[in-house]
Amino acid sequence: MTSRKRSPHDFIFKEELGHGSYSTVFKALDKKSPNKIYAIKVCSKKHIIKEAKVKYVTIEKNTMNLLAQKHHAGIIKLYYTFHDEENLYFVLDFAPGGELLSLLHKMGTFNDIWTRHFTAQLIDALEFIHSHGIIHRDLKPENVLLDRDGRLMITDFGAAATIDPSLSGDSAKFNSDSNGSKDNQNCASFVGTAEYVSPELLLYNQCGYGSDIWALGCMIYQFVQGQPPFRGENELKTFEKIVALDYPWGPNNRINNSTSPINPLVINLVQKILVIEVNERISLEQIKRHPYFSKVDWNDKIKIWRGIWQ
Ligand code: ATP
Repeated sequence: MTSRKRSPHDFIFKEELGHGSYSTVFKALDKKSPNKIYAIKVCSKKHIIKEAKVKYVTIEKNTMNLLAQKHHAGIIKLYYTFHDEENLYFVLDFAPGGELLSLLHKMGTFNDIWTRHFTAQLIDALEFIHSHGIIHRDLKPENVLLDRDGRLMITDFGAAATIDPSLSGDSAKFNSDSNGSKDNQNCASFVGTAEYVSPELLLYNQCGYGSDIWALGCMIYQFVQGQPPFRGENELKTFEKIVALDYPWGPNNRINNSTSPINPLVINLVQKILVIEVNERISLEQIKRHPYFSKVDWNDKIKIWRGIWQ
């Protein structure tokens, strides 16, 4: 970070990359070093206040600032924040590969090599996030972006929460919101996305590192099946399926119209993650030792973070 406060005038705004419920994201160049491309998320102050999103924007900024202190390839980095009369600006890493979800839609499903590759990157990035006492709480393929080589980068920390540092391990739970208030209502209020929400949040209003691991399990299932495991006609029906652990396994038949069977090890891994009782759910450390990753050297970060298209 530079000491002088940056401003929108320091950047050349290019095309719109997309928009969310309270923001629009633009590709942008730094006037001082035009070779460096950023994504700038512009949030309208009026809109944020009207839609009561101040809390989420604050959480996003604080969490991304915390994570940006130490670079991790799998996390979208926040470089600068500033504001003018109308907007707040987040200057972020630009992800030219777009959303992982779009790639999955294009492919139908991921083959075994891609599934293992992306999952290993997700695990490494998630470990980094959790090591900072942060629970993402909205992990899903829309919130995972890709660089030009097909390396993934987790983004969208607006629903994140910090865990009480006096608790440790995967059984750690938090019962306050990220603003530090002890208001259980805030935890009880549904955050995240229906299809990826954990049973402990639905059943006990509890949320911990295990909730991100649950979402990871939903994503791995989605990689090999093309859609998330729990999907009802509406949110309530989806929640009912989650707490009943009601999800199907079908053949991975979307590639080349052939009915190639899913690797039994990936099925076994997902079954160990999608466990209702959070204390019985496999931890990230245990996932890394699962036979599905027997050929992955978790210390070889260069190999883990090699792009899929390289
Ligand atoms: P919501 O806020 O409603 O959950 P969102 O998180 O997708 O939606 P934004 O973070 O504003 O909203 O992102 C809008 C879109 O801009 C995303 O869908 C993504 O396609 C694109 N985008 C966001 N960040 C980047 C980035 N760093 N690089 C490239 N594209 C991005």
